[in-house]
Amino acid sequence: MNYDVILIRYGELALKGRNRDDFEEALLRNTKNILRPFFKAKVRRNYGRMYVELNGEDADAVMERLQRVFGISSFSPTLKIEGTEEAIKQAATELMLSLSPRPATFRVETRRADKRFPIPSMEVSRRIGGHLLRNIPGLKVDLHQPEVTISVEIRTEGTFISCLTIPGPGGFPVGVSGKVLLLLSGGIDSPVAGWMMMKRGVTLEAIHFHSYPFTSERSLQKVRDLAQKLTRWGGTVRLHVVPFTEIQTAIRDKCPADYLITIMRRFMMRIAEQVAKKTGALALASGESLGQVASQTLESMNTINSVINMPLLRPLVSMDKTEITDISRRIDTFELSILPYEDCCTIFTPKNPVTRPKPEIAARYEEVLDIDALVADAVERTEVEEITTKRQETDFDDLF
Ligand code: ATP
Ligand code: MG
Repeated sequence: MNYDVILIRYGELALKGRNRDDFEEALLRNTKNILRPFFKAKVRRNYGRMYVELNGEDADAVMERLQRVFGISSFSPTLKIEGTEEAIKQAATELMLSLSPRPATFRVETRRADKRFPIPSMEVSRRIGGHLLRNIPGLKVDLHQPEVTISVEIRTEGTFISCLTIPGPGGFPVGVSGKVLLLLSGGIDSPVAGWMMMKRGVTLEAIHFHSYPFTSERSLQKVRDLAQKLTRWGGTVRLHVVPFTEIQTAIRDKCPADYLITIMRRFMMRIAEQVAKKTGALALASGESLGQVASQTLESMNTINSVINMPLLRPLVSMDKTEITDISRRIDTFELSILPYEDCCTIFTPKNPVTRPKPEIAARYEEVLDIDALVADAVERTEVEEITTKRQETDFDDLF
């Protein structure tokens, strides 16, 4: 079927007042961005709806991309035809015949926004239905639970007819919810956490703690590649790379082994909070899931969290590993995440990390360190990279 237009629907129910403008503007901008490689396609907004005029671009390829635009609740590939009864009948027949398997039951739904069209909407539906029944054998009308609904919209700019509604990714357009700084490791969880935050409409920046030479250039490249996967849902991701070797070495040399991980994470928090303030992020996010490992007990979360005041969002907190892994496969980060490069948390892993650390004890053990100087120095030497989608602009066989 040679569709003309993709009609886009978005979460109208969730929108009120001023938010609506921000939402629609961000959705328009993000849709235009992701469809840039399809240079003939035009994205338009018109009276509370949005559509893509294909102008000959491939509908399936465009719809594949729309699956990555948060804020879209569903979309429909649509024919744009002349507003005459004959044209509508013909298009309805073509659409019906293009479906496989052929549905047994259908109904027609008509909206007449252009009152210059002479036939009332109920009557249009009746005539189109009658036409289909006469021309396609074995078809029945079912007004309550049809297998297919043919929707006809008669508007001043043209008549639109479609019979498929495809679910979109939902959520909010990236950019409407403010900025969040994601603690991005090379593991399975944190990229998924980042994706889930983007789904809520945040602009994502990422921070990675790197312990060169204990961790290699390859492990840093892996983190860049993961950040780049995330850019497929929302443009650029700014990556802050923190040199963490000095701090880790100081902790290892001066603090008790069972608290190494706890203290190391408290430093990550302090540094992340400062970087977030500098870059305008209002919250941090991590890939932690309650109980998953020793450092993710409630006691541990408390002890680690107590050194900062900024909210730390944990979108995976209640999810099982299998659920997280399923998403990581769907967003295509899984294969990268399981590459076996060393990680700054694994190199100093003591045999028996404490599972119920206490903030007072952690603080006492930290007294031997010059916390402020170590943090300030790491923040000072943090390097910023802009990770963009560039490399993938011609990549059409995306998963989402
Ligand atoms: P992940 O799969 O995201 O690495 P994990 O199950 O391995 O998670 P941990 O290694 O305990 O769990 O890390 C918990 C969280 O701390 C991560 O999800 C991530 O948000 C953050 N984190 C861990 N290591 C780093 C790092 N080197 N740089 C930035 N953030 C990190
Ligand atoms: Mg990890």
